[in-house]
Amino acid sequence: MDAYERIDRAIDTASEDLRRLSLDIHSHPELNFEEHHAHQALTDFLDAEGFEVVRGAHTMPTAFRAVAGSGGPSVALLSEYDALPGIGHACGHNLIAIAGVGAGVGLRAGLEGRPGTVVILGSPAEEGGAGKQILIEQHAFDGLDAALMAHPAPMDNATPKVQAMQHVRVEYFGRNAHAAAMPWMGLNALDALVLGYNALSVLRQQILPTDRIHGVFTQAGVKPNIIPDYTEALYYVRSATMAELANLKERVKACLESAATATGCRVGIHWEGRPYTDLVSNEPLAERYCTHMAALGLPVGKLPWFGASTDMGNVSYVLPTIHPMFCIPSDPLNANHTAPFTEAAATEEAHERTIRVAKAMARAAYDLIADPAILAQVKADFAAQVPAPGDPLKR
Ligand SMILES: [Zn+2]
Ligand SMILES: [Zn+2]
Repeated sequence: MDAYERIDRAIDTASEDLRRLSLDIHSHPELNFEEHHAHQALTDFLDAEGFEVVRGAHTMPTAFRAVAGSGGPSVALLSEYDALPGIGHACGHNLIAIAGVGAGVGLRAGLEGRPGTVVILGSPAEEGGAGKQILIEQHAFDGLDAALMAHPAPMDNATPKVQAMQHVRVEYFGRNAHAAAMPWMGLNALDALVLGYNALSVLRQQILPTDRIHGVFTQAGVKPNIIPDYTEALYYVRSATMAELANLKERVKACLESAATATGCRVGIHWEGRPYTDLVSNEPLAERYCTHMAALGLPVGKLPWFGASTDMGNVSYVLPTIHPMFCIPSDPLNANHTAPFTEAAATEEAHERTIRVAKAMARAAYDLIADPAILAQVKADFAAQVPAPGDPLKR
């Protein structure tokens, strides 16, 4: 039996357990950094499989690191398992969880005595918590040669172009007044909030097609007869690259400040959380993935664009990375982050696709470990695409 057969057989053997894990995680949706049930279920499985498991790894109670094999090139396979508020696993992270774990089990079987290290990283809080940036800061990827993860979507795409993103919270501080008796005494923080929103809406006509600005009002006053003295909004700002994001952030800031000037309010602009970088897909590694997906009967293309963000982007600035999107049968108009996608993530068809994706990832990772020429190509591509690792603004 050759290595690919060993990989496929190990993943097929684990498929029933992986299906159980996936449905278990799907029926216990947990938010950012609170994925205790999923963490327990996945680490129990990997422990039983004979991996060397560190629970609560890299300073996060719901992160884990599971290792098999030794020496040789080292490859990270990533699992995600956080859900969304109100709509459960509407991003299908239950499938990402088992794709990473399944690929790790397959890769270990493929290596069988050959030098090479399999590292399955359980990665919390993809939905806004930038868990992988914390993994980076905690040196989880030090010494590793590549990282692979796959994400369900309504279409296949081996090299999605995801956006760099940062959150901004804006506050306006005005002055209360009776809205009928003495409105001229007020400084209307709601007017500032609305003007800031409208300024951003006007800006949207003049920005790149790859830019996004979208937000919600989180505090907008308490009673119509009290001129609001405090309001707050939260926006996400996204661009194709970190350099373009830096430019867009300045323009967003100017819009938000202009609203304060117009109304006489004071503004507080807070760029919060860890930024998500764009995604640098490693071309030779993506090629290997595409080759294996085609061999497994699911040919995958390379589409020019997919509008979203992922903290796997941050990983892609640190080491060679792929993050293919894989199709699960779903209504294209009800994609990720909708209730119908939650349903799609639990279907048998979605599981079957995920199993094939796990095989393709494990085979691609095996190629990188077993063939020094492929590893060299992967490293050269990384060096060419990310000239200054750890300094995204230079890209
Ligand atoms: Zn999502
Ligand atoms: Zn997601």
